[in-house]
Amino acid sequence: MEHIVIIGNGIAGVTAARHIRKLSDKRITIISGETPYFFSRTALMYVYMGHMKFEHTQPYENGFWKKNRIDLLQAFVEKVDTDAKVLHLAMGNTISYDKLIIATGSKPNKFGWPGQDLQGVQGLYSKQDLELLEENAPNNKVCKRAVIVGGGLIGIELAEMLRTREIPVTFLVREDSFWNGVLPAGESAMINEHIKEHHIDLKLSTNLETILDDGAGRVKAVTTDQGETIECDLVGLTAGVSPNIDFLEDSAIETGRGVLVNRKLETNIPDVYAIGDCAEQHSGIGNRRPIEAVWYTGRMMGETVAQTICGNPTEYKPGHWFNSAKFLDIEYQTYGWVFGRKGKPEYEAHYHWRHPEEKICVTIAYDKNTEKFLGINTFGMRMRHQMFDRWLTEEKDIDYVIAHLKDANFDPEFYKPYERLILDSYNQTRNKNIKLKSKSLKRIFQLG
Ligand SMILES: Cc1cc2nc3c(=O)[nH]c(=O)nc-3n(C[C@H](O)[C@H](O)[C@H](O)COP(=O)(O)OP(=O)(O)OC[C@H]3O[C@@H](n4cnc5c(N)ncnc54)[C@H](O)[C@@H]3O)c2cc1C
Repeated sequence: MEHIVIIGNGIAGVTAARHIRKLSDKRITIISGETPYFFSRTALMYVYMGHMKFEHTQPYENGFWKKNRIDLLQAFVEKVDTDAKVLHLAMGNTISYDKLIIATGSKPNKFGWPGQDLQGVQGLYSKQDLELLEENAPNNKVCKRAVIVGGGLIGIELAEMLRTREIPVTFLVREDSFWNGVLPAGESAMINEHIKEHHIDLKLSTNLETILDDGAGRVKAVTTDQGETIECDLVGLTAGVSPNIDFLEDSAIETGRGVLVNRKLETNIPDVYAIGDCAEQHSGIGNRRPIEAVWYTGRMMGETVAQTICGNPTEYKPGHWFNSAKFLDIEYQTYGWVFGRKGKPEYEAHYHWRHPEEKICVTIAYDKNTEKFLGINTFGMRMRHQMFDRWLTEEKDIDYVIAHLKDANFDPEFYKPYERLILDSYNQTRNKNIKLKSKSLKRIFQLG
């Protein structure tokens, strides 16, 4: 019986395994070094914050794997020999495969800062990182101040986590406004305000220079390029992630930043595939980046590769870009493309609305030549994915989107509707006279 071996039990590897099982009787083994069972990485923060136990982050009962004839092996793969179709494990033994799926995820970036390997300096990625954080920052007696380096989504999560234990946090952000490579200026400015309101010491346009040793191998302070020395007991390194593929260095598998794959997620070596955070497309699909380190794309790639492996060759087609995250108390959703400072095309214009009192805002991107709707960012309100996905496919214009915003409101019973305010401001700003359409279930669910 054909043996499929998957390295990595994250969302990508596990989805591939589940779908191969649905489609076939093949022998499946998942090897992973981090934990015996799959868990939801995105929920790690809630364990530290006391909202859930680690066991609750595991979406499947432990018996699920045996019942579905998916063998689990907790081990670290050190080397891949694609000629012999054999994996070498750190524990000394080997395991052979007929088809191999590499789904080894990411690792936190380290940029060679002096002192980056001291005790008390860590990333936030794995379960082991979470355990280390419990040791380094159990409370504000042991950790009198934390310094977080890198203003992205994981950095702000770490800041929120530490603040729940009342640990003072200094947040070093290289850019002159939070995440403004991705977020348009108005949104980024609103998040700056929100971070400061949470008593986080946000230092913009500031780079880490050195992490100082207390003489016993532990961090005692950091210095910045602004000439400051900040005493601290924890340094959180959250300056992005990169594919976790060092173990492939001596293999014949072609790599760039990640494992290079074609649209069918095949590598240069027959019977070897790569999916999830560690996979790199030769060129990005549409506006997407060649490496996509997000949860749902890992799941989609897992489903896609399962089809190919089970005899139905399938290309990875992720559809319109979307994503969601949380900046402390503010929920963020994005559909389609709304560019921040980096990569904004010449034809893209933005309509931005911000609530006069609350931390709520919307940016709608459109083509300034054709008025075509390109994408939307929402902060502090929840919108219906399905509607924006459809409007992008149908290439609606921005006036249509504004007029039909009520259709996209996720749940007006629980979330205050802001469509009227957005519409009035839009009409005024752009000198238009668009009328707000009533919500239509018929339109939303495309009935009759
Ligand atoms: C704190 C945090 C919050 C996040 N929040 C969000 C969010 O809100 N939304 C979102 O879309 N994304 C979020 N992400 C990103 C998301 O979690 C990842 O995109 C996703 O988990 C990647 O899945 P994966 O299956 O590709 O890899 P991973 O989940 O990284 O799984 C890979 C596994 O392979 C193991 N492995 C690696 N190398 C080897 C080896 N040589 N031998 C054996 N095992 C190996 C690793 O230890 C790991 O267990 C977050 C990430 C973090 C760290």
